[in-house]
Order: sequence, then C-alpha cells, then structure tokens
Amino acid sequence: LSDRLTETFRNLRTKGKLTPADVDGTVREIRRALLDADVALLVVKDFTAKVRERALGDEVNKALNPAQQVVQIVNEELVAILGGQQRRLQFAKNPPTVIMLAGLQGSGKTTFAGKLAKQLEKDGHTPLLVACDLQRPNAVNQLQVVAQQAGAAIYAPEPGNGVGDPVQVARDGVEAARRQQHDIVIIDTAGRLGVDAELMTQAADIRRAVDPDEVLFVIDAMIGQDAVNTAKAFQDGVDFTGVVLSKLDGDARGGAALSVASVTGRPIIFASTGEGLDDLEAFHPDRMASRILDLGDILTLIEQAQQAFDEDEARKVAEKLANEAFTLEDFLDQLQQMKKMGSMKKMLGMLPGMGQMKQQLENFDDKEIDRTEAIIRSMTPVERRNPKILNGSRRLRIARGSGMTVTDVNQLVQRFDQAAKMMKTVARGGVPSIPGMGSL
Ligand code: GDP
Ligand code: MG
Repeated sequence: LSDRLTETFRNLRTKGKLTPADVDGTVREIRRALLDADVALLVVKDFTAKVRERALGDEVNKALNPAQQVVQIVNEELVAILGGQQRRLQFAKNPPTVIMLAGLQGSGKTTFAGKLAKQLEKDGHTPLLVACDLQRPNAVNQLQVVAQQAGAAIYAPEPGNGVGDPVQVARDGVEAARRQQHDIVIIDTAGRLGVDAELMTQAADIRRAVDPDEVLFVIDAMIGQDAVNTAKAFQDGVDFTGVVLSKLDGDARGGAALSVASVTGRPIIFASTGEGLDDLEAFHPDRMASRILDLGDILTLIEQAQQAFDEDEARKVAEKLANEAFTLEDFLDQLQQMKKMGSMKKMLGMLPGMGQMKQQLENFDDKEIDRTEAIIRSMTPVERRNPKILNGSRRLRIARGSGMTVTDVNQLVQRFDQAAKMMKTVARGGVPSIPGMGSL
C-alpha cells in the first residue's frame, strides 16, 4: 500500500498550486492503493469522497504548500476513521472487570488472552484466565500453557467430564475470580473457521451470562476483504466494545483496521504483533494512519525543511523555475539554504524511497559548496544572471578572482546548466535533486 502512496505524494510534493486534475489524480491513486490493501470498497469510496471534497476546498487553495495540505488531510481523515484518540481498556468500578474475547478460530484469541494477562500482571493486576473454548480438544490445554507462560491464574473445567457447557464455565469462572479476589477476568471463547449461527449464539449466551465490561473482537489483520463481513457478523451476533487487531507483524498494512473501524464504529484498542507474549501494543490511531500512509517521517521531514527554508524564498525560486529564469544568483541562494538545512543526510534518511538520493548525499561535501560559492561571488551580477556571456576571458578573470582554475569555473558552469535543467524537471513535477552536489 505505502509504496504506491509514497509515489503519489512524492509527485504531489513537488508541485505548486494544485489543479482539480491534480486532486483527482491523487484521489484516484489513494483509492487504488486502499483497494490494493484490501480496504472494503464501501469504506474506500466514503474516504476518497471526503478527501476530494476537502482537497478542492479553501484550506488547500490558501495553503502555502497545497501538496502538504493534501497529505495532511489524508492523514487526518485516516486518524478520524481509526477512532481519533487512543482508547484504553475500561475497568469496572466494582471488580472484577470482566473481559470477554470473541472472534474466528485462529484469529489469535488465546494468544491475546495470554498477552493481555501478562501485561495486566505487570501493571499490578491479578487477572484470571477462563477457558470457555470447549470445542477443540486441545483448546483448554493451550490456554493452560499460555497462562503458565504469562504467570497468570487459570480457571478451567475439570478434564474427563465430557463436553462441558461454556456458558456455565464462564459464569463459574467469574464467580471463582470474585471468591479468589482476582480483579480482572479474561474469558477465552471458541471460534469457527467461518462465521456460523451456533458459534454466535454461544458467544451471545456467554455475554448475557457474565455481562462483561469489555467484549473484544479479535481479528486477523491479514484477513483482507472478509474483514468487513466477519466484523459485521460479530457485531450483529454478539456485539463488541472494542477490537484487537492481531498478526500485525505480518505483511498486513492495516487495510483491515480501516475497514473494521469504519464499518463497525468500534475502537481498535490493541495491536497484536507476534507469537510471543510480549508482542502486544496499545493501538494508536495516528501511528496506524502513518503506517498506512508511510507518512509519519515525511511529515517530520516537511516540518524540518520548513524551518530551514524561508518560505518566501522557496516560492520565489519556484516562480523563477516556472519562468525558466533560474540564474547563478539563485543557485548561490540555494547553496546558502542548503547549508542552513545542515542535517540533510538525516532528513533524507527519513524519506521512504529516497535511498538513491541519500547515497548522493554521502558524497556531499561542505567544502565543495564553499568553492562553488567563491566562484559565483567572483562573477559580476550581470554574469550571474546570464551565464551565457561567460567567455574565455571572463572565465579566466573569475578563476583568478576566486583562486580557482579555469577548469573549476568551466565545471561549475557545466554543473549549473545541468542543475538548471534538473530544476526545471522538478518544477514540472519530477523527482527533486539538489544542485551543487558532487555527482551532478
Ligand atoms: P484462536 O483460535 O483465536 O485462539 O487463535 P490462537 O491464539 O490459537 O492463534 C492462532 C495462531 O496464530 C497461533 O499459531 C498463534 O501463535 C498465531 N498468532 C496469534 N497472534 C499472533 C500475532 O500477533 N502474530 C503472529 N505472527 N501470530 C499470531
Ligand atoms: Mg483459542
């Protein structure tokens, strides 16, 4: 997902004012990228419509840098769909807090139960795990192993009593927690490979029996387009108060997160990121939005660049470029700006897909800027504005004045020509490059 969006935003970033065609092109790319990431069509349509409306509006028109504004808007809308603020677990006023898990088989409920228990223990709670998956022969045993790893207590039906009643086990589990003064109960339930009526009824019955403070719907982030139907089925059948997104350590880019959050309106509370019991994170809508867009670092980069570059100066250069009137004087200004930016290498390292440019920067040499500056300073203003008049005798004079050789001057003029060409490409929306660098 993010590669394509990175490309889209890179194209956007290098443009000045956005035409409606630019906005449409960008929206089309966002749409394609989201669909590629298996975000549900309905959600994609809704999302892109919102982005388009805002991107064509005044806030972008009047922005100093319209492209950045669009990136900002996309980010904002993503964060909004994902719930805006981080949502924490809600604890009961009178313990025990009852947390019930629901979800398809293999979605990661049992693993999450262990992770959550371990995290809660660390925070000073005394969770009790309750084994209500009596469907699969091994399920109770699996929870026992997980509980042991987490160092948490477990309530499980006695083995050898035949298939017990999960609803009764849930009730007894909560009762046991109350007696033994556990402040939190985590109820692990059974799942099926597909959504089915019996499973839903069982989960709904458990819910009714123990009246949980939280019902967490665990969903595999890799599930793709099925995320919407599965989430809706569980919302209709059991309903839930929050979502756990599991297996986010895989390739999943968060498409499921967007679909589930958007379609159910329920907050995602946890992100499960591995098979180990410590692989659990609180879900942050802003971070997930960044993950989806791969934008987090770009925004930082934009901020840093804004500080270093005088906005007016940048705009003037852009105008000159558009008029193809880029001169050695501008070149000199740019070199000065670059010196101000200082930590260019670090900044470019934050940009996804800028590896090549970063490499160019490895060859970047402060002294070379100084030499270039010296040469340009030895030119007359007329020469700077119109390098074409630099004939042999002028070049010799400049070389002497700057303490360089004529070859140095020739190389600079040549590099300037190349840079000017490159800058024109940038002004037309190409990939940016930096003049004055060794490899130009
Ligand atoms: P349940 O059927 O819903 O209880 O799912 P399980 O907890 O048994 O998990 C199913 C499989 O997914 C197991 O092999 C787990 O190790 C694995 N699993 C669970 N959560 C994660 C996760 O966040 N990342 C990865 N990579 N694997 C996970
Ligand atoms: Mg399980």
